[in-house]
Amino acid sequence: MINDTNSSEIARKTLSTLAARKIAPTPDNYARLYQELSGNPEANSADRILALNAKPLQESTDDKLKLAWPSLIRDLLTQMETSHKGITITRKKQGVGTVLNKFNNDSSVLFSKLQGLIVSWGSTATPGPDELIPTKLESEAENDTVSLAPVNITGIPDKEIVTTIDTKLVEQLRELLAQSLESTHSKEPDLMSEIQALAQQARATSDYAQATKLNKQLRKLWSKLAIHDTDNFNIQEGLMRLFRLLVENVGELVTEDKWLHDQIVNLQEIIERPISKQSIASAERNLRSTIIKQSLLRQNMIDAKTTLKSLMTTFIDRLSEMTDNTGAYHTKIENYSVKIGQTDNLAELSHILDDIMQDTRIIQASSMRSHEELISTRKQAEIAEERVKQLEQELEEVSELVREDQLTGALNRRGLDEVLDREIKRADRQQTPVSIALLDIDNFKQLNDSLGHQTGDQALVHLIQVIKNALRPTDEVARYGGEEFLIILIDTSLEEAMTTVTRLQRELTKSLFLHNNKRQLITFSAGVALHTSGEDPESTIGRADNAMYKAKRAGKNRVFAAN
Ligand code: GH3
Ligand code: MG
Ligand code: MG
Repeated sequence: MINDTNSSEIARKTLSTLAARKIAPTPDNYARLYQELSGNPEANSADRILALNAKPLQESTDDKLKLAWPSLIRDLLTQMETSHKGITITRKKQGVGTVLNKFNNDSSVLFSKLQGLIVSWGSTATPGPDELIPTKLESEAENDTVSLAPVNITGIPDKEIVTTIDTKLVEQLRELLAQSLESTHSKEPDLMSEIQALAQQARATSDYAQATKLNKQLRKLWSKLAIHDTDNFNIQEGLMRLFRLLVENVGELVTEDKWLHDQIVNLQEIIERPISKQSIASAERNLRSTIIKQSLLRQNMIDAKTTLKSLMTTFIDRLSEMTDNTGAYHTKIENYSVKIGQTDNLAELSHILDDIMQDTRIIQASSMRSHEELISTRKQAEIAEERVKQLEQELEEVSELVREDQLTGALNRRGLDEVLDREIKRADRQQTPVSIALLDIDNFKQLNDSLGHQTGDQALVHLIQVIKNALRPTDEVARYGGEEFLIILIDTSLEEAMTTVTRLQRELTKSLFLHNNKRQLITFSAGVALHTSGEDPESTIGRADNAMYKAKRAGKNRVFAAN
């Protein structure tokens, strides 16, 4: 059974269910739904329903309705701030304002109208406030004479709508409107003053004419706010476009640094999304870290430039040292040095480096040429040195073949050794005598000293000439030392040898050796030794030398036989 207490609840539920199910709020639909929700088959008449609905409202205005209003206002405020697709807060305010204006003389109708309005916000398919309460554009509102007469939007006949006025409720609604206005913010000082004035005006509205005037002013205000919102939106969009351009541009500048490039890409992605507080904060964070990194990079670039400059200066200093005397090039290098000191531009530094390298290549080429010439000369010197060595070697080989003394024509030591070896061996083999005489010119030093070394040489040549002429062809004479000669007397006994050498003495004395047309006497002292069979040639010579030494001691110009 439906009692009077819950009938108003069912009525309210019926209204909200009509909206939720997208059913037109006609009396028939209302009655059918009411019956369905109440579960009472008898309660199927609209009259009965309205009676049931109206009665408790009339009878309990002071208690039940009063209890319901606070929750409705709370609901209204909550729904006002809740985001609903397709419905702006401005439009919500417009809806509330219109309902307040139209139904402010009947609290119960006002209650259900506001309730219906709130429900309509919650469902996008449900007729919105604009459909429930037609709103007009600013241009239309200007000339509009707004009727504040109650408009029956429920489809329930006017005569059946409860018209009880609750002055306290109207006061509360006025305050609610004023507070709603005051909570509206605008950055425009003029608009804010207007909002404040209208809030005061809403509080002071006490009759129908004032309400009509307030209604017009509110419409104008909402229109201005809407335009202002649009302006703000356009400004915001414009700024974001500028920001995107800026980020895009920075992105192209930092292509060399991967981290920075990635940050810029992130930033671009963030600002491409719809603008929200979170996305703006995220973009700001990203931009801040990018700026920090950029300043680090800038420092690194400055350091790199300084290092490059220092390297180039050192390079030029070294080059200058190398090319100290290369005139024009040296001057050029000095100019480059000055240029490097004056520039901080990397591109310019790079150009200077190119120029230096170009000039350096020229110098390098010339230096290379000199170096090549040097190498070539050195190679030629080495070839010449090698040739000299070769010639020396050849000379040595040739001189080894020489067996005669170059000055006198007598045998040299090599010739002597060969002849001596050969003749002694033959003597030993043939058992024939072979004697050896050793001659030393007397006082030869003195001759050298008094007549000169060259005359001494001529004296030596003269002696050998005399000896050779006096000896048998088979005998051999050799130069044994400076002014010492050795004669090998083949097949000659000691006596015969003594005779021969003595003869030589005489021949020498008889011969004329002239110096500056003045005759010079040359004498020698000699020792003669007979080679004994099997005796070492050196030993035979040694004995002859001893005999010669005795001849010297005996007074020179003598011939002594060895023991
Ligand atoms: P002594 O009678 O005791 O032999 O006296 P010496 O002066 O002949 O003997 P000494 O050994 O004191 O001097 C030998 C000199 O012979 C010294 C040296 O200058 C000279 N002599 C050696 N070989 C040559 C030569 O090829 N040409 C010339 N001009 N002088 C030579
Ligand atoms: Mg001597
Ligand atoms: Mg001598």
